[in-house]
Amino acid sequence: MEYRTLGRTGIKVSQIGFGCEHLQGKPYEEIEPLIRGALDRGINIFDMFMSQPQVRTDLGKALAGRREQAVLQGHIGACWEDGQYVRSRDIGKCRAFFEDFMERLQTSYVDIGMIHYVDDDKDFDGVFNGPVMEYAKELKAKGTIRAIGMSSHNPAVALRAVKTGLVDVLMFSLNPAYDLLPEDTLCDDLFVKDTFQNPSLSGVNPIRAELYQACEALGVGITVMKGLGAGMLLNEKASPFGFALTVEQCIHYALTRPAVCSVMAGMSNMKQLERTAGYFETPEEDKDFAKVLSTAPKFSMKGKCMYCNHCLPCPAQIDIAQVNKFLDLALASDSVPDTVRQHYASLSAHGGDCMACGSCEGNCPFGVQVIQRMEKAKEIFGV
Ligand code: SF4
Ligand code: SF4
Repeated sequence: MEYRTLGRTGIKVSQIGFGCEHLQGKPYEEIEPLIRGALDRGINIFDMFMSQPQVRTDLGKALAGRREQAVLQGHIGACWEDGQYVRSRDIGKCRAFFEDFMERLQTSYVDIGMIHYVDDDKDFDGVFNGPVMEYAKELKAKGTIRAIGMSSHNPAVALRAVKTGLVDVLMFSLNPAYDLLPEDTLCDDLFVKDTFQNPSLSGVNPIRAELYQACEALGVGITVMKGLGAGMLLNEKASPFGFALTVEQCIHYALTRPAVCSVMAGMSNMKQLERTAGYFETPEEDKDFAKVLSTAPKFSMKGKCMYCNHCLPCPAQIDIAQVNKFLDLALASDSVPDTVRQHYASLSAHGGDCMACGSCEGNCPFGVQVIQRMEKAKEIFGV
């Protein structure tokens, strides 16, 4: 397993996380080996948005004695009424079900208090100017939560949240198909194939790109949900690209977006756990999403870097994807953020080391003019 620092929280998280929603309804005898098996394989971050009492109790039991190894995303606003999940902004219910989460998980703190599912401006205004955010701040001030998070499927709303400076962690629905979609796409439409039939879809939606760049610049770590598009991308018939991607290609795509720290994979059996946790042992060519996506007309990037490093090897040892990522971040800002400058400086080779051999440009499936971009990086960063 490999780890990343979750933005400004400083919390180290495994790049493969565990989205626990599929554990709801399973017997404890299946839950325990999955949770413990995940920990044994180095997975340390778990999203537990579910409000069903039994699954919370079972997750707490499965983590008993190993709580300190886990980073928990517990949700503020995921409640349980009349035998079913409900999203609520009623502060009494938010408090009661967050306390219920801690009690059933047998824990005195939650690593990330995730304000649950904010997808439209009206809800955003109510949450950020009302008692839900006050409650999250109170929890953080008391040390009951280590960081404030927010989950969302809407990039424009997520961007508003990130820019407030109040949100330390963003849980966001991210995959190559969703990245094409207009920012006002409704959550329910993410699961409908017709959503992707719009002929004008082409390349990454600029608000989504801006969101990832803003997160990176402001130190907001992204944890990814729906990295496989709820399985849609794995199925040739359902995939909007007309071909299936693999689990590994989807994970690799998500992990190469700016600010992404962990992909919360929904796993419901040991076979899925073995495969997902084995991501880092997968040969590079099997993770390579660039070769297939570059053949998808909708994914035409017109010379835009996708941070895939398909262009390597570079005789100057430049990590071309990283240089391009920091260059895009710099170009997106009026002044280069200090964090971006520091990250660029810490690379072992820089744009200025480029010898203009051109081999990368022949290898790039997205037609990126790498030599020009290396020159631009040198101009902006000075090396
Ligand atoms: S230059 Fe091309 S191959 Fe290299 S990281 Fe960017 S998109 Fe991928
Ligand atoms: S052109 Fe520059 S960046 Fe590309 S492979 Fe050659 S030395 Fe590396």
